[in-house]
Amino acid sequence: MHYFSSDFKLGILGGGQLGKMLLYETRKWDIHTKVMDASEEAPCKISCNEFVLGSLLDFDTVYNFGKGLDVLTIEIENVNTDALEKLEGEGVKVYPQPSALRIIQNKATQKLFYTDNDIPTSPFTRFAYTSEIKDSITNGGLVFPFVWKSAQFGYDGQGVKVVRSFSDLDDLPNVECIAEEMVDFKNELAVIVARNSNGEVKTYPVVEMEFHPEANQVEYVICPARIDEKVAQKAQEIALKVSNNIKHVGLLAVELFQTQDDQILVNEVAPRPHNSGHYSIEASYTNQFEQHIRAILGLPLGKTESKVAGIMVNLVGAENHTGDVVYKNMEAALQLDGVTPHIYGKKQTRPFRKMGHVTIVDEDMSRARQVAQKVKETIKVISK
Ligand code: ADP
Repeated sequence: MHYFSSDFKLGILGGGQLGKMLLYETRKWDIHTKVMDASEEAPCKISCNEFVLGSLLDFDTVYNFGKGLDVLTIEIENVNTDALEKLEGEGVKVYPQPSALRIIQNKATQKLFYTDNDIPTSPFTRFAYTSEIKDSITNGGLVFPFVWKSAQFGYDGQGVKVVRSFSDLDDLPNVECIAEEMVDFKNELAVIVARNSNGEVKTYPVVEMEFHPEANQVEYVICPARIDEKVAQKAQEIALKVSNNIKHVGLLAVELFQTQDDQILVNEVAPRPHNSGHYSIEASYTNQFEQHIRAILGLPLGKTESKVAGIMVNLVGAENHTGDVVYKNMEAALQLDGVTPHIYGKKQTRPFRKMGHVTIVDEDMSRARQVAQKVKETIKVISK
């Protein structure tokens, strides 16, 4: 198969920022792309070859989009898997495979998969409806506090809530969900594993994530994680084990907890490029987006090591600001050394919406961390 400057066609389901950054790489290699998204204002629109407006969850829409493509990938996992299975049966290469997506799409199924495969994860109970949780607490089957997670369609912390009392359950949607034991963690870590269609596998260094306390969104991603080498090794081994068991093709981002006594528990995975790998655009030999393309096309995987320390700061919409976006103090941030902003192209901001990110690179990690803090304090994402 010829991919470069040829009639080969790559489809991408989802046209958000991950897709947009994937398209930097297809443009670099002159690979023809067709993207579908439900929004007319999708960030991908400006750089794909063909854009289709449509619902990612509708069987016919996804099936019709995929027919005639050579390879089909995703940048979001909430897509119609039945349509992908049919396409796969008809010879379209779908990566990640629908079988991998099915395990991951539902958090209850995903957690069961970990326990079935002897992968360390926090204990949990599955409920068909949130309303069943109250009974379980009354019967002593479940104790406060626990973490409630919607089984489906959670994203960026939206489907997650710490429940400390009965009243915390009141506002939750009555849907399939899990109740997870609260993990007393020291650190949240992530490892990206790349696997190509020939079975070659490589892991990226362990990164460390710092979360915004209220919004449950990543504030800084730090590569390499400032943790003990032994703990880092354990994290990589566990991420590899998850990857080997899921047998995905493409990237798998594995989010992990490091507990107070240095156990590693798997939180969740995403079978695609991930926020925790954005630093790689500036800091790695092969960035995660190029790596995903290499993996799904069966090309040799690139070197995953970093050239320099990298820190990623998410640019999220400021609280109390909704409307046409303005990026304030960008010039001041650009005066700092080693700073590269990425603006996703969403015209409307709202509180905590991911609007962009900034990567800070430096040979010295502590200097990078200082600059990251300055960037965070300087740039404001507000409305007009
Ligand atoms: P999402 O799919 O929305 O990213 P996650 O399952 O990753 O949701 O949860 C979001 C955040 O909530 C995690 O990054 C972590 O900070 C916190 N969290 C999730 N599960 C637990 C848990 N079992 N114990 C403690 N904190 C948790």
